[in-house]
Amino acid sequence: MAKTVIIEETGGPEALKLVDREVGEPGPGEIRIRHKACGLNFIDVYQRTGLYPLELPHALGMEAAGIVEAVGEGVSHLKEGDRAAYAAVPPGAYCEARVMPAAQVCPLPDGVSFEDAASIMLQGLTVEYLFHRVWPLEKGAEVLFHAAAGGVGLIACQWAKSEGIRLIGTAGTDEKCKLALEKGAAECINYREKDFVPEVKALTGDKGVDVVMDGVGKDTFDKSLDCLKPLGMMMSFGNASGPVEPVSLLTLAQKGSLKLTRTTLFTFLADHDRCQEMAKHLFEKLESGAVTANIGQRFPLEEITEAHRQLEARKTTGSTILTL
Ligand code: NDP
Repeated sequence: MAKTVIIEETGGPEALKLVDREVGEPGPGEIRIRHKACGLNFIDVYQRTGLYPLELPHALGMEAAGIVEAVGEGVSHLKEGDRAAYAAVPPGAYCEARVMPAAQVCPLPDGVSFEDAASIMLQGLTVEYLFHRVWPLEKGAEVLFHAAAGGVGLIACQWAKSEGIRLIGTAGTDEKCKLALEKGAAECINYREKDFVPEVKALTGDKGVDVVMDGVGKDTFDKSLDCLKPLGMMMSFGNASGPVEPVSLLTLAQKGSLKLTRTTLFTFLADHDRCQEMAKHLFEKLESGAVTANIGQRFPLEEITEAHRQLEARKTTGSTILTL
């Protein structure tokens, strides 16, 4: 049996329920993993509220780190006793142990702690694909990154610095801006106090940025298009403030032949080899010290409701983990 967080119906943080569940044995292509720590992500909120629908009842949570207890037939990249970590579907990582598909589970180097891995798999792999797999971002490129003091945000600040990319962040308080600057943002705009469009224009000699990376969504999308250079690339990857309204393609023409993509990590992780390659790249960044885990909050698994409350209320910085 394993303590597991599930939802029986969609709703607020109170919809999260801690139950005991049978774990069972792994079938072909599966492993059983005993978690040491789990990560909390905004996608968990979308699943809980029903923005991203799940068949109910369903366990929640998309990332964790722990020890492989058993492997099913056909699994060759992991064995019993291995340290491992993952960002993976299906949801169900908020638990002590589970059986799950092995393809997206990655061997964890000894130099990376379970807590650090649980905090960084999903958000770090997201930064990996945003910077390397969507559009060829070159040294010296200028990027506007919203919610730069959040989980994905602080990793992006560090990653950008290590790649020679000038990251202009936005964040909701001066304290959050300070944190983003400490982690490597070149500039940070408090977008609750200032309109970020003229600020970005002023910081780029009126030219605009090459790329916008926007996980905030509804509140920032339209204005973000106005921050791009002609031919610039808009990477929309989240809805923390709500989903983006439908966009007219003509808008992209009028604002300078802009490019637009709406990406999701799990498209990039779907290929086993690419997933393992992305994880290796992330672990190299961690082991070199270029990127660090930024655990801003820790909650015991039993306090999952409070953890969700704080994430949704913009009270967290960096990554949040659940301890076991
Ligand atoms: P964060 O830690 O960044 O938390 C979200 C942040 O968004 C808040 O702290 C807040 O920062 C900002 N925000 C702005 N408006 C609101 C609002 N109305 N309500 C709540 N928050 C708001 O979360 P994550 O690092 O987990 O994720 C960041 C974004 O990236 C999310 O949208 C997430 O879904 C997305 N994501 C997408 C992936 C993909 O592949 N598509 C993968 C991983 C994450 P502030 O106060 O500074 O404004």
